[in-house]
Amino acid sequence: MSLYKDEAIVLFKRAFGESDKIIRLFTHKSGKIAAIAKGGSKSQKRFMNTLELFNCINVEYFEKTGKGLVRLENAYILEANHGIEENIKKVCTAGFFTELVDRLTKERERHDELFYLLKDILKTLKQAEFNYTDIVYNHMKILETLGFMPNLTECVYCGNKMDVEEKVCFSSEKGGVLCRACSSALPHKTYNEGVIERILLFCKGRGERDYRLTDRVMDEGISSKKESKGYVFLERQIQDIMEGFMSYHLDVELRSYRLLKRYVFKQ
Ligand SMILES: [Zn+2]
Repeated sequence: MSLYKDEAIVLFKRAFGESDKIIRLFTHKSGKIAAIAKGGSKSQKRFMNTLELFNCINVEYFEKTGKGLVRLENAYILEANHGIEENIKKVCTAGFFTELVDRLTKERERHDELFYLLKDILKTLKQAEFNYTDIVYNHMKILETLGFMPNLTECVYCGNKMDVEEKVCFSSEKGGVLCRACSSALPHKTYNEGVIERILLFCKGRGERDYRLTDRVMDEGISSKKESKGYVFLERQIQDIMEGFMSYHLDVELRSYRLLKRYVFKQ
Protein backbone atom coordinates (compact mmCIF):
# COMPACT_ATOMS: atom_id res chain seq x y z
CA MET A 1 0.00 0.00 0.00
CA SER A 2 1.31 3.42 -0.82
CA LEU A 3 0.50 6.72 0.81
CA TYR A 4 -0.99 9.40 -1.44
CA LYS A 5 -1.09 13.12 -0.76
CA ASP A 6 -3.58 15.39 -2.41
CA GLU A 7 -5.77 18.45 -2.08
CA ALA A 8 -9.51 17.79 -1.83
CA ILE A 9 -12.96 19.29 -1.39
CA VAL A 10 -15.43 17.46 0.85
CA LEU A 11 -18.53 16.63 -1.21
CA PHE A 12 -20.35 14.26 1.05
CA LYS A 13 -20.06 12.64 4.46
CA ARG A 14 -21.98 10.17 6.53
CA ALA A 15 -21.42 8.19 9.69
CA PHE A 16 -20.42 4.58 9.21
CA GLY A 17 -20.71 2.17 12.07
CA GLU A 18 -20.16 3.55 15.52
CA SER A 19 -17.07 5.57 15.01
CA ASP A 20 -16.17 5.81 11.34
CA LYS A 21 -17.11 8.15 8.56
CA ILE A 22 -17.55 7.58 4.87
CA ILE A 23 -16.73 10.65 2.82
CA ARG A 24 -16.62 11.52 -0.82
CA LEU A 25 -13.84 13.83 -1.86
CA PHE A 26 -13.21 15.71 -5.06
CA THR A 27 -9.45 15.60 -5.23
CA HIS A 28 -7.13 17.60 -7.42
CA LYS A 29 -4.99 14.75 -8.75
CA SER A 30 -7.40 11.82 -8.74
CA GLY A 31 -10.85 13.31 -9.21
CA LYS A 32 -13.67 11.93 -7.11
CA ILE A 33 -12.78 9.29 -4.54
CA ALA A 34 -14.62 7.63 -1.68
CA ALA A 35 -12.79 7.29 1.60
CA ILE A 36 -13.26 5.81 5.00
CA ALA A 37 -12.09 7.83 7.95
CA LYS A 38 -11.49 5.39 10.77
CA GLY A 39 -12.47 6.98 14.03
CA GLY A 40 -13.74 9.99 12.10
CA SER A 41 -16.91 10.19 14.13
CA LYS A 42 -15.56 9.39 17.56
CA SER A 43 -12.07 10.72 17.85
CA GLN A 44 -12.23 14.44 18.32
CA LYS A 45 -8.49 14.71 17.90
CA ARG A 46 -7.95 12.84 14.72
CA PHE A 47 -10.10 14.59 12.16
CA MET A 48 -11.34 17.44 14.27
CA ASN A 49 -13.61 19.62 12.10
CA THR A 50 -11.64 18.75 8.99
CA LEU A 51 -14.15 16.49 7.28
CA GLU A 52 -16.97 19.00 7.18
CA LEU A 53 -18.86 19.59 3.95
CA PHE A 54 -17.40 22.25 1.61
CA ASN A 55 -14.04 22.28 3.39
CA CYS A 56 -10.96 22.31 1.22
CA ILE A 57 -8.37 20.06 2.83
CA ASN A 58 -5.00 18.41 2.36
CA VAL A 59 -5.36 14.67 2.62
CA GLU A 60 -3.10 11.69 3.02
CA TYR A 61 -4.58 8.32 2.26
CA PHE A 62 -3.71 4.70 1.68
CA GLU A 63 -5.06 2.80 -1.23
CA LYS A 64 -5.15 -0.89 -1.89
CA THR A 65 -4.97 -1.61 -5.58
CA GLY A 66 -8.31 -2.48 -7.02
CA LYS A 67 -10.26 -1.57 -3.88
CA GLY A 68 -12.98 1.04 -3.97
CA LEU A 69 -12.59 2.83 -0.67
CA VAL A 70 -9.34 4.51 0.26
CA ARG A 71 -8.34 4.79 3.91
CA LEU A 72 -7.92 8.31 5.08
CA GLU A 73 -4.85 8.69 7.22
CA ASN A 74 -4.59 12.42 7.82
CA ALA A 75 -6.50 15.54 6.86
CA TYR A 76 -5.59 19.19 7.33
CA ILE A 77 -7.74 22.21 6.65
CA LEU A 78 -6.69 24.54 3.85
CA GLU A 79 -9.90 26.50 3.55
CA ALA A 80 -12.62 25.94 6.11
CA ASN A 81 -16.27 26.43 5.26
CA HIS A 82 -16.69 29.27 7.77
CA GLY A 83 -18.94 31.87 6.28
CA ILE A 84 -21.08 29.26 4.52
CA GLU A 85 -22.27 27.02 7.32
CA GLU A 86 -24.20 29.64 9.27
CA ASN A 87 -26.22 30.90 6.33
CA ILE A 88 -29.01 28.67 4.97
CA LYS A 89 -28.94 30.27 1.50
CA LYS A 90 -25.21 29.75 1.24
CA VAL A 91 -25.47 26.17 2.47
CA CYS A 92 -28.12 25.44 -0.17
CA THR A 93 -26.04 27.09 -2.89
CA ALA A 94 -22.84 25.27 -1.89
CA GLY A 95 -24.83 22.03 -1.59
CA PHE A 96 -26.16 22.46 -5.10
CA PHE A 97 -22.74 22.99 -6.69
CA THR A 98 -21.04 20.19 -4.78
CA GLU A 99 -23.85 17.75 -5.55
CA LEU A 100 -23.74 18.77 -9.19
CA VAL A 101 -20.01 18.04 -9.36
CA ASP A 102 -20.54 14.82 -7.42
CA ARG A 103 -23.23 13.60 -9.82
CA LEU A 104 -21.66 14.73 -13.07
CA THR A 105 -18.19 13.31 -12.52
CA LYS A 106 -16.98 9.74 -12.55
CA GLU A 107 -14.73 8.30 -9.88
CA ARG A 108 -11.00 8.67 -10.52
CA GLU A 109 -11.32 11.10 -13.37
CA ARG A 110 -9.01 14.04 -12.93
CA HIS A 111 -10.52 17.45 -13.74
CA ASP A 112 -8.07 20.25 -12.96
CA GLU A 113 -10.27 23.04 -14.27
CA LEU A 114 -13.36 21.79 -12.47
CA PHE A 115 -11.45 21.37 -9.24
CA TYR A 116 -10.29 25.00 -9.29
CA LEU A 117 -13.72 26.17 -10.38
CA LEU A 118 -15.47 24.46 -7.47
CA LYS A 119 -12.81 25.70 -5.06
CA ASP A 120 -13.31 29.21 -6.34
CA ILE A 121 -17.11 28.98 -6.12
CA LEU A 122 -16.93 27.92 -2.48
CA LYS A 123 -14.37 30.58 -1.64
CA THR A 124 -16.45 33.32 -3.28
CA LEU A 125 -19.58 32.06 -1.55
CA LYS A 126 -17.91 32.54 1.80
CA GLN A 127 -17.69 36.25 1.09
CA ALA A 128 -21.17 36.84 -0.29
CA GLU A 129 -24.50 35.19 -1.06
CA PHE A 130 -24.94 34.32 -4.72
CA ASN A 131 -27.73 36.01 -6.57
CA TYR A 132 -29.71 34.30 -9.29
CA THR A 133 -27.27 35.40 -11.99
CA ASP A 134 -24.29 34.02 -10.08
CA ILE A 135 -26.01 30.66 -9.70
CA VAL A 136 -26.91 30.33 -13.38
CA TYR A 137 -23.46 31.56 -14.39
CA ASN A 138 -21.62 29.02 -12.24
CA HIS A 139 -24.01 26.24 -13.17
CA MET A 140 -23.22 26.88 -16.84
CA LYS A 141 -19.51 27.13 -16.09
CA ILE A 142 -19.57 23.66 -14.53
CA LEU A 143 -21.46 22.26 -17.51
CA GLU A 144 -19.04 23.96 -19.90
CA THR A 145 -16.00 22.58 -18.08
CA LEU A 146 -17.41 19.07 -18.35
CA GLY A 147 -18.43 19.47 -21.98
CA PHE A 148 -22.17 19.43 -21.15
CA MET A 149 -22.89 23.07 -21.93
CA PRO A 150 -26.07 23.35 -24.01
CA ASN A 151 -25.62 24.95 -27.39
CA LEU A 152 -27.36 28.33 -27.22
CA THR A 153 -25.83 29.98 -30.27
CA GLU A 154 -26.69 27.78 -33.24
CA CYS A 155 -29.26 25.10 -33.99
CA VAL A 156 -28.02 22.04 -32.17
CA TYR A 157 -29.36 19.76 -34.93
CA CYS A 158 -28.50 21.39 -38.27
CA GLY A 159 -25.84 23.83 -37.09
CA ASN A 160 -27.47 26.95 -38.58
CA LYS A 161 -26.66 30.24 -36.91
CA MET A 162 -29.71 31.73 -35.26
CA ASP A 163 -30.85 35.24 -34.52
CA VAL A 164 -32.00 36.15 -31.04
CA GLU A 165 -35.66 36.28 -32.04
CA GLU A 166 -35.43 32.81 -33.57
CA LYS A 167 -34.21 31.19 -30.35
CA VAL A 168 -37.46 29.98 -28.84
CA CYS A 169 -37.26 26.19 -29.04
CA PHE A 170 -35.07 24.25 -26.67
CA SER A 171 -34.42 20.52 -26.77
CA SER A 172 -33.10 18.95 -23.58
CA GLU A 173 -32.48 15.69 -25.43
CA LYS A 174 -30.36 17.31 -28.13
CA GLY A 175 -28.81 19.75 -25.70
CA GLY A 176 -29.58 23.14 -27.15
CA VAL A 177 -31.69 25.46 -29.28
CA LEU A 178 -33.49 24.28 -32.41
CA CYS A 179 -34.27 26.33 -35.49
CA ARG A 180 -37.89 26.47 -36.71
CA ALA A 181 -37.32 23.86 -39.39
CA CYS A 182 -35.70 21.32 -37.09
CA SER A 183 -38.12 21.98 -34.26
CA SER A 184 -41.01 20.71 -36.38
CA ALA A 185 -39.55 17.21 -36.34
CA LEU A 186 -37.94 17.02 -32.90
CA PRO A 187 -39.30 17.10 -29.36
CA HIS A 188 -38.70 20.42 -27.66
CA LYS A 189 -40.25 23.05 -25.42
CA THR A 190 -41.04 26.56 -26.53
CA TYR A 191 -40.04 29.63 -24.54
CA ASN A 192 -40.64 33.31 -24.92
CA GLU A 193 -38.38 35.24 -27.18
CA GLY A 194 -35.31 36.48 -25.39
CA VAL A 195 -35.35 33.88 -22.60
CA ILE A 196 -32.72 31.57 -24.11
CA GLU A 197 -30.56 34.55 -25.02
CA ARG A 198 -30.72 35.65 -21.39
CA ILE A 199 -28.85 32.55 -20.29
CA LEU A 200 -26.01 33.59 -22.59
CA LEU A 201 -26.22 37.12 -21.22
CA PHE A 202 -26.08 35.78 -17.69
CA CYS A 203 -22.86 34.00 -18.57
CA LYS A 204 -21.31 37.10 -20.09
CA GLY A 205 -22.71 39.54 -17.59
CA ARG A 206 -21.02 38.27 -14.52
CA GLY A 207 -17.92 39.99 -13.36
CA GLU A 208 -19.90 43.11 -12.73
CA ARG A 209 -21.34 42.14 -9.38
CA ASP A 210 -24.09 44.70 -9.70
CA TYR A 211 -25.39 43.30 -12.96
CA ARG A 212 -29.13 42.89 -12.53
CA LEU A 213 -31.70 41.93 -15.05
CA THR A 214 -34.14 44.36 -13.57
CA ASP A 215 -31.80 47.16 -14.62
CA ARG A 216 -32.14 46.12 -18.21
CA VAL A 217 -34.98 46.67 -20.58
CA MET A 218 -37.14 43.60 -20.80
CA ASP A 219 -37.62 42.09 -24.20
CA GLU A 220 -40.96 42.60 -25.80
CA GLY A 221 -41.91 38.97 -25.32
CA ILE A 222 -41.49 39.13 -21.58
CA SER A 223 -42.49 42.69 -21.00
CA SER A 224 -44.81 43.28 -18.14
CA LYS A 225 -46.45 46.27 -16.54
CA LYS A 226 -44.64 45.42 -13.40
CA GLU A 227 -41.00 44.81 -14.10
CA SER A 228 -40.66 42.50 -11.12
CA LYS A 229 -43.38 40.26 -12.51
CA GLY A 230 -41.48 40.02 -15.77
CA TYR A 231 -38.35 39.21 -13.86
CA VAL A 232 -39.96 36.39 -11.92
CA PHE A 233 -41.50 35.05 -15.12
CA LEU A 234 -38.11 35.14 -16.81
CA GLU A 235 -36.45 33.35 -13.90
CA ARG A 236 -39.06 30.60 -14.02
CA GLN A 237 -38.57 30.05 -17.73
CA ILE A 238 -34.80 29.91 -17.37
CA GLN A 239 -35.19 27.50 -14.48
CA ASP A 240 -37.47 25.34 -16.59
CA ILE A 241 -34.80 25.11 -19.28
CA MET A 242 -32.07 24.31 -16.76
CA GLU A 243 -34.24 21.74 -14.98
CA GLY A 244 -35.20 19.98 -18.19
CA PHE A 245 -31.58 19.90 -19.19
CA MET A 246 -30.43 18.64 -15.79
CA SER A 247 -33.03 15.92 -15.59
CA TYR A 248 -31.97 14.67 -19.01
CA HIS A 249 -28.33 14.39 -17.97
CA LEU A 250 -28.90 13.12 -14.46
CA ASP A 251 -31.12 10.18 -13.72
CA VAL A 252 -32.37 11.53 -10.41
CA GLU A 253 -33.43 14.94 -9.26
CA LEU A 254 -30.78 16.64 -7.18
CA ARG A 255 -31.92 16.85 -3.58
CA SER A 256 -29.93 20.03 -3.20
CA TYR A 257 -31.77 21.61 -6.11
CA ARG A 258 -35.08 21.27 -4.29
CA LEU A 259 -33.55 23.09 -1.32
CA LEU A 260 -32.03 25.72 -3.57
CA LYS A 261 -35.47 26.42 -5.04
CA ARG A 262 -37.06 26.61 -1.64
CA TYR A 263 -34.55 28.76 0.19
CA VAL A 264 -32.81 30.73 -2.51
CA PHE A 265 -35.31 31.02 -5.34
CA LYS A 266 -38.17 31.19 -2.80
CA GLN A 267 -40.59 28.87 -4.57
ZN1 LIG B 1 -31.91 23.40 -37.36
